[in-house]
Amino acid sequence: MENEFSEYKMHPDKKAPVLIVGGGISGLTAALFLLKHGITPLLIERHKSTSIHPRARGFDIRTMELYRELQLSEQIREAGRALAPAWGIHTNASLATALKNKKPRNREVKSPIATKGLEELAAQSPEVGARCTQDLSEPVLLAAAKQREAEILFNTELIAFERNDKCVIAIIRNRETGQEQTIHADYMIAADGAKSIIRETLQANTIGKGVLGSLLNIYFEADLADFVKGREFSILRIKDQEIKGFMTSINNTDRWVFHLYYDIAKGEKPEDFTDARITKILEKVVGLPEIKIRIISILPWQPTVKVVAEMQHGRIFLAGDAAHVMTPYGGKGANTGVQDVHNLAWKLAAVIHGKASPELLHTYNKEREPVGLHNAEQSGKMADEYGLLKKINWKIFGSFLLVMLVGVLKLKKLFPRLAMGKAGGLVGLPDYKYPTPICDEKMKTTPYAKTGLLNAEPGTRVPHIWVEYNHEKISTLDLLGKDFVLFTGTDNKVWKEATDNINNKMQIIIPIYSIGAKGNLVYNEKSIKEVFGIGETGAVLVRPDGFVAWRYKQQPLNHSDSLFKIFHAILFIRE
Ligand SMILES: Cc1cc2nc3c(=O)[nH]c(=O)nc-3n(C[C@H](O)[C@H](O)[C@H](O)COP(=O)(O)OP(=O)(O)OC[C@H]3O[C@@H](n4cnc5c(N)ncnc54)[C@H](O)[C@@H]3O)c2cc1C
Repeated sequence: MENEFSEYKMHPDKKAPVLIVGGGISGLTAALFLLKHGITPLLIERHKSTSIHPRARGFDIRTMELYRELQLSEQIREAGRALAPAWGIHTNASLATALKNKKPRNREVKSPIATKGLEELAAQSPEVGARCTQDLSEPVLLAAAKQREAEILFNTELIAFERNDKCVIAIIRNRETGQEQTIHADYMIAADGAKSIIRETLQANTIGKGVLGSLLNIYFEADLADFVKGREFSILRIKDQEIKGFMTSINNTDRWVFHLYYDIAKGEKPEDFTDARITKILEKVVGLPEIKIRIISILPWQPTVKVVAEMQHGRIFLAGDAAHVMTPYGGKGANTGVQDVHNLAWKLAAVIHGKASPELLHTYNKEREPVGLHNAEQSGKMADEYGLLKKINWKIFGSFLLVMLVGVLKLKKLFPRLAMGKAGGLVGLPDYKYPTPICDEKMKTTPYAKTGLLNAEPGTRVPHIWVEYNHEKISTLDLLGKDFVLFTGTDNKVWKEATDNINNKMQIIIPIYSIGAKGNLVYNEKSIKEVFGIGETGAVLVRPDGFVAWRYKQQPLNHSDSLFKIFHAILFIRE
């Protein structure tokens, strides 16, 4: 791709601070976070619309925290409302036999986080995960990005690019008119999915088990509303001599997906599966002769574990599936992409606005590569020899049982650390710790580091607590997203001077909030020491992405100078 490039003119038709390639979940979310930080990106998407296929069906807690930050969490939840009660996994010969003896429930089904025993885990976030298929979530993101004035070109693909020290030069083509344009972008985000051309062109090294199987993702219509009502499920694994696969619910009424395994070792190919043959298979899977089945679309795909060793290539950043392909088991694919671009957006904005050195951008790989690798590897462990979902993953099942038992027995001392360690990541709480928020340039990427607790330790997501602010109940997370923020004890006079000093010298505004019965964030439940690990004169500095950059347990001797130095270190500014 890069070789063809030299023929093209070097004068740009358009300039952009950031070019985003790919209008899937990762690309659209990147656009929204960049807009939030005052950067108007150019996003190109080769298809003429967002995904028409349901694909990812769920967002975890952390992703919903991020959509809350964009004021989109309720819209996403609403868009996916029909799927919300779809929980639980069955294994049976058909849907008919799986549900035959199941009595309809007479209570509302909630997500696993609402299970008895997990209350303290749920209390770590103002959000819960949400069900929403990609064909419904992407339009919500697109509408918001358009309304917030992102420049978005559909039907437009990247056909060549070159990078140098100053910019990325990209050739894009309108697939309808054939018209080509040259874009000069300060930075490019490769959000071009699992088959990323950008990743291939860069010849990025990858690690991981690779392809685990070959499946057809069959999206079909069957009116099963009455049959399923009250007995909604997430996944039905089919136990049959001839058919290997699993069915998933899409809207609990008339839309479903069946993932059908085919054996390439036996020479089977997607083309062998005619509509008539697939309809027969689906009829057997559903097992209700009176139900009419109509195939909507078929998407061949391969559950794969493949992760790039380096997410940054000069001015190009790989994100989402372009950086880490994982199986859908555990539901982390789209979530990891959303969380990548959240980590990247504030850093790009700080560098583009001249507030940080470009060295800050190296922390993107150091922080996100271990998370992508961990999530991909875990998803691979949930797959069986055909690349299908394993019957029971004892490690996960056992972890949940143990956490619930300890929760139900109210072993309060043991619970928080154990629950976060065993089940936090599964439900989507950020259970990891970034290597160090104050990164030294020479520091190597470290493996995924689990944190026992979200207790304001540097490198972890700042604790969520409900507080009263200006007579309103809000979460501490509601104060984050744009600026660095300083949470302090109630004795915070010196911190006001320190933040003013930074504002004067570096033109960086740092909102400051004191927490306590007499703080501007009114909080009486526990002491600030218990929740944030600081005394009344202490302070916790939080990055725009909600991760703790630094913590002063008590006021240091030279607080003003100290905070100033910390900022220089975080933003890699050398005097
Ligand atoms: C069957 C299935 C079920 C899944 N279930 C889940 C789940 O439950 N939870 C979960 O978190 N994840 C799930 N996933 C994974 C999830 O779909 C992906 O992780 C997610 O779509 C990744 O988003 P992305 O934006 O990184 O990539 P994509 O959604 O693949 O988007 C990439 C975009 O880039 C565009 N593009 C590519 N090349 C170019 C180019 N040259 N120029 C312009 N545009 C280009 C593509 O058209 C595409 O729209 C599932 C995946 C599959 C296949």
